[in-house]
Amino acid sequence: MSRFQVKKVAVLGAGVMGAQIAAHLVNVKVPVILFDLPAKDGPKNGIVIKAVEGLKKLKPAPLGVPEDAALIQQANYEENMELLTECDLIIEAIAERMDWKTDLYHKIAPFIAEGAIVASNTSGLSITQLSEALPESIKPRFCGIHFFNPPRYMTLVELINTPSTEPRVLDDLEAFVTSALGKGVIRAHDTPNFIANRVGIAGMLAIIKQTEAFGLTYDVVDDLTGKKLGRASSGTFRTADVVGLDTMAHVVKTLQDNLGPDKTPDPFSDMYGTPPVLAKLLESKSLGQKTGAGFYKKVGRDIMRLDPESMEYVAGGAKANEVVGRMLKKPAGERLKLLREAEGAEARFLWAILRDQFHYAAVHLETIAETARDIDFAMRWGFGAKQGPFELWQQAGWKQVATWIKEDIDAGKALSTAPLPDWVFKGPVADAEGVHTAEGSWSASAKKFIPRRKLPVYERQFFPEDVLGSKAQAFETAGTTLHEDDAIRLWTLDGVNGEKADVLIASIKTKMHAISPDVAEGLAMGVDLAEKSYKGMVIWSNDEMFSAGADLQAMLPAFMMGGAKAIEGAEAELQNVMLKLRYAAVPVVSAIRGLALGGGCEMAVYSAKRVAAMESYIGLVEVGVGLVPGAGGLAYIARRAAENASTSTNKDILPFLTEGFTAAAMAKVGTSAIESRKIGYLLDSDVIVPNKDELLFVALNEARALFNSGYRAPHKRQFPVVGRSGLATIKGQLVNMRDGGFISAHDFHIAGLIAGVVCGGDVDAGTLVTEEYLMTLERKAFCSLLEHPKTQERIMGMMSTGKPVRN
Ligand code: NAD
Repeated sequence: MSRFQVKKVAVLGAGVMGAQIAAHLVNVKVPVILFDLPAKDGPKNGIVIKAVEGLKKLKPAPLGVPEDAALIQQANYEENMELLTECDLIIEAIAERMDWKTDLYHKIAPFIAEGAIVASNTSGLSITQLSEALPESIKPRFCGIHFFNPPRYMTLVELINTPSTEPRVLDDLEAFVTSALGKGVIRAHDTPNFIANRVGIAGMLAIIKQTEAFGLTYDVVDDLTGKKLGRASSGTFRTADVVGLDTMAHVVKTLQDNLGPDKTPDPFSDMYGTPPVLAKLLESKSLGQKTGAGFYKKVGRDIMRLDPESMEYVAGGAKANEVVGRMLKKPAGERLKLLREAEGAEARFLWAILRDQFHYAAVHLETIAETARDIDFAMRWGFGAKQGPFELWQQAGWKQVATWIKEDIDAGKALSTAPLPDWVFKGPVADAEGVHTAEGSWSASAKKFIPRRKLPVYERQFFPEDVLGSKAQAFETAGTTLHEDDAIRLWTLDGVNGEKADVLIASIKTKMHAISPDVAEGLAMGVDLAEKSYKGMVIWSNDEMFSAGADLQAMLPAFMMGGAKAIEGAEAELQNVMLKLRYAAVPVVSAIRGLALGGGCEMAVYSAKRVAAMESYIGLVEVGVGLVPGAGGLAYIARRAAENASTSTNKDILPFLTEGFTAAAMAKVGTSAIESRKIGYLLDSDVIVPNKDELLFVALNEARALFNSGYRAPHKRQFPVVGRSGLATIKGQLVNMRDGGFISAHDFHIAGLIAGVVCGGDVDAGTLVTEEYLMTLERKAFCSLLEHPKTQERIMGMMSTGKPVRN
């Protein structure tokens, strides 16, 4: 079997994108060489050295842990061209100039390895035109690979072929980008700005126009076009500021240069002119966040907004009308009708921008994308929208919305007089009342519904993200249910993609997957069932939250009735469930994605193995509510320190304990799966999965593999603790922190209790203890805090505002 192996990648260009793409490759364990021009002064790698340094400080962090920046191999075109011959994939991400890019292609061509794929990250230059600079032998292996900024976090990657790109090359690349890099791939046609930026930037230009037409201010528009509309929370103008107005202008220029009369015809080309306000901002070098001013300017603590009339900054922060906010909560059909028929400018503005987007997407579908699904995914994955334009249109009622758009076009209210294409009103789409069907999504060029691409890589995704209307199977109802209540569903994948029912899946159903007594009971039931009839149990749900921890709300009634004593029993039960997970006769695998906090973290560390999506944020955060981890978290920290020390030469436990203690005492949360591993909540033997949609597949396979290799639960053994002498050392440091004003008196008190537990209490150094013994200490500390007024203040604060109280 021959397969495309990516052993090493070269990234050409260490700018905003190139450096961050290199960082993401490091995150997912792909060796990478980052190239740039030789520096004029100092070391020849000067430009790359600076870029790699910059990665450590950039926010949001492009690297899982900053020190991994050292794994990026540095190179320049003057000294290191031969390094290119080692690379199976070359991603070019240099400045957006056709002549510079093609010059570079001439230079690198002799060093491109046989079979290597070469791809450009250009935002909008013609891929076909770029390919002309390459020798015939390389053209079949050349394509576009368009990442979105910031590449670690934005799901979208557009792949663009030229007429000479070999189809296998694109399939191979799609598999690599999906599975190894964890991205969502769409294939775009080689048209200016491809799909996401074409539709997205046209949408922004339309919003700028309509903002002016309806006389609204930028802050109000951002409030309207952010979360309330199901789009990125930064809205429109703040997003532009963050992206950089120069970058945005660049994308607009590509539209201007390529589309319109005498160029490629586009009935919307009139709207591609640079908006006067943008032109003025560019002229004054106000490029947004990077220059400190754009549509907004931060003055002290205040965010001022631009007044386009005077070009002065005035007080900002105005919010949208509450009535409009309520309209936006209505079901789609009613929502659009209300917006369209409302009196107020804000509501009518919203209808106008939605209509413009529907109109634009429908008219351009045939030329820019294979199917409507690609446009919807582009807006979701590239622009942070919850739904793409076609999904919303279809949800609101295809024919009704089509009629409204047509009326507006006829009345001259739309941004272009171009009529909606015929397929909107007649034929399969009109019959199906939408572009997305179970059969596939509408292709205006092929005039039929086309299903998703069936590449082997997608067999790793049981429940991939899908568009509304595709009737894809939902994980909540898939497979065979063995037990289900409000707290948990215990089920198997039976029959999904031909899967066997050999591993049990436990999906927690509570809000934020909080661990209530019912959830704990359900997990215990799951273990019993799995031990009896399955190879293992996987704890997994298909959303952004593994578990936010123990359910404080559920504990409240017991506390009110019986005080801390009443909670002690519940706490003991939770600890028992953790031990049950750990000592189950079959492996329990936690499949983590998003938050795994407090009890969620404990559930993970008491599993036989963890499979974590790259974007997992794991930590023991109980200190935030004035408590200590009480479901085995501290016992885990003590045990792990002892285990690690046992393999070191001097057997001194304290150095191994400090990291775990500090993480719990400071409520430290790993900002990636990689960092969570450094803190100690994931082990080296655990698996980090780049693509969240592959998590279940990998977890099931891990459970199976463990079972098939003859899994037995770990021995229940005693282990040594540092005892009172270690405790004295830690406490000494805590005193300094308190006296230096770094922690409050209550923080000091809690940290002291945490130290007491992880050190094993008032015993001699090296005393052997059991997990149960440490769990008793944990419970005592937990319950003593519950009665502390300052802890109660923290809990109440968190429950009423969701924010930690500092006291
Ligand atoms: P940038 O300006 O930050 O970096 C460009 C890099 O190219 C610099 O490191 C520079 O040293 C190098 N360079 C300049 N001239 C060169 C030449 N003649 N030969 C070789 N190298 C040269 O640019 P960027 O924002 O990282 O964009 C890089 C590419 O990625 C562009 O094609 C851009 O359209 C695309 N892109 C950018 C974004 C974004 O948001 N910035 C998003 C997606 C794609």
